[in-house]
Amino acid sequence: MSGYVGRLAPSPTGALHLGNVRTFMIAWLRARSAGGKVVFRMEDLDHPRDKPGAAVAAVEDLRWLGFDWDEEYVQSERRDIYRAALARLDAYPCVCSRQDVERAQSAPHDGEQLFYPGTCRGRFTSWDEAASACAPRTPCWRFRVPDDATVSFDDVFAGPYSQNVARTLGDFPLARDPDGAGYTLAATVDDALMGVTEVVRGDDLLPATPPQILILNSLGYKPPAYCHVPLVVGTDGRRLAKRHGDTRIASFREAGIRPEEVIGWLAATCGWNTKKTPTRLQNLVGRCLLETIPHEAVVWRGTFT
Ligand SMILES: [Zn+2]
Repeated sequence: MSGYVGRLAPSPTGALHLGNVRTFMIAWLRARSAGGKVVFRMEDLDHPRDKPGAAVAAVEDLRWLGFDWDEEYVQSERRDIYRAALARLDAYPCVCSRQDVERAQSAPHDGEQLFYPGTCRGRFTSWDEAASACAPRTPCWRFRVPDDATVSFDDVFAGPYSQNVARTLGDFPLARDPDGAGYTLAATVDDALMGVTEVVRGDDLLPATPPQILILNSLGYKPPAYCHVPLVVGTDGRRLAKRHGDTRIASFREAGIRPEEVIGWLAATCGWNTKKTPTRLQNLVGRCLLETIPHEAVVWRGTFT
């Protein structure tokens, strides 16, 4: 095996659909074409939104489509790891609601993202103190961003990206959990500990990357390479959702569609299969050129042909 380590990281907040599977396909093929390893990680920390049975269903859908992997992890079993990472970071509890943060936007800052001006810096000595101050709401942990925190990286697909996190985001949230078990911290720490060398994911997460690099730097980990690819949208240009019809993999399977048809269409959207010929995932290993993937979002028109 080469040194490449890729990852598939579904969250059980809903069923797998064409959009997330396209990204998984690119991720898996990048790894297998490089002779590398694939890590499967279930990101099941979002309890209020996690759907019962969705984790098992995601595995079933991926296997049906031809995916395999070499290691498997479940984030809800790794809380001790996130707690230990949190303890090593300069973080503090914040009790501000989203409305509080929106009201504080008059402070000068750059960019479109919601800027946090550091309202709760030095305000609480512990999580419990913050929790009782904002009950029944839950505080969040925020990362204390250094004053001149500019992060620059060269995205493998999207190109150069640079952001002054101190001026655009401010102290960003790490987790809404006393032990730090939340998406931003957990996904970042896991990528480092699992040895992931390249993160392939949807380009909606491009703005989440500079904060993650700050976390990695702070913990002394080398950031992986990032490869952010466009999303699948409906004919209205909006991100694929229920209003665009049923694009769940399980529904196609139940309707008698073959996995080869799904993969064939997805490969066509990447410029690897111009005739949309049904094909197996395995047959695309070595044929997944990033150069042919359009930089625009892919439009699902309701048919594989
Ligand atoms: Zn606050």
